[in-house]
Amino acid sequence: MEKQYMLEVKNLVKHFPVSGNKHAVVHAVEDVSFRVEKGKIFGLVGESGCGKSTCARTIIRIYQPTAGNIIVDGEDVSYKKNRELQALRRKMQMIFQDPYASLNARMTVHDIIAEPLRAHKVASSRQEVSERVYDMLDKVGLSHEHANRYAHEFSGGQRQRIGVARALVIEPEIVICDEPISALDVSIQAQVVNLLKDFQYERGLTYLFIAHDLSMVRYVSDEIGVMYLGQLVEICAAAEIYEHPLHPYTKGLLAAIPIPVPKLARQKVVSSIEGDIPSPISPPPGCHFHTRCPYAKPICREQEPELRDMGGGHQVACHLY
Ligand code: SF4
Repeated sequence: MEKQYMLEVKNLVKHFPVSGNKHAVVHAVEDVSFRVEKGKIFGLVGESGCGKSTCARTIIRIYQPTAGNIIVDGEDVSYKKNRELQALRRKMQMIFQDPYASLNARMTVHDIIAEPLRAHKVASSRQEVSERVYDMLDKVGLSHEHANRYAHEFSGGQRQRIGVARALVIEPEIVICDEPISALDVSIQAQVVNLLKDFQYERGLTYLFIAHDLSMVRYVSDEIGVMYLGQLVEICAAAEIYEHPLHPYTKGLLAAIPIPVPKLARQKVVSSIEGDIPSPISPPPGCHFHTRCPYAKPICREQEPELRDMGGGHQVACHLY
């Protein structure tokens, strides 16, 4: 059966102006392309400052793309404006990293969850709105008594459940999760991940799941994309990236987390990444990773490697291959 894609990102570029220097730009996202199959979870991973959150916010059109295309369920939404964007928001919702900052402190939990229902006119009467809010509270594991409380009265994990309820109450088709578990205790992270997986299973939801290390997306994702300095450097099935990582940056990310990758340990090919991520205002020429790569060759400083399929959909951008 032919694959159906909920999200297709084609050659997406997002630049920001630099204040005080009209000739410079921040190259936040550079020529990023990937696809997310309907009902699947795509993990987007990279260090802080690699552009993954900017990429997510451009896809959901918080930011206007500089170039490239964003296709949601077959419809190009790249340059839609105002009312047209409202329809996109109905289809695509976002869960934020900080569940406290993203919830209005002056609103009750009931009103926080009801707000998108009213904004998108999904429910008409007060009774219908409340029924949907209480139904959502049940689904995310909160009680009806919680509806009249305020966000500051909850723990981080409970606040993120409210964030999930708010995003999912209007039944979107794709949800962008911007580091939704990074601010939570490890014991709570699994609960929130399981909650998101339940919705994937029950509703066939599609997710774009952003994380800063590979441990966080390991059990969530069907496919993973690794980003470095605004570019995708490797894309493949989730299991494959842990078993057969190709890009030196991916191997470095794996080395930074305490997960056993016996094959790599035996080969002694994994070492953590040294040095800082270069400035996105003036990324290094050639391969952007050459300033930190232990395998860099002369060509790496001159020629930018293209993302190439090494077989079975495993794509990598590196002159070693
Ligand atoms: Fe390292 Fe060269 Fe590959 Fe870049 S292209 S990751 S510098 S080996």
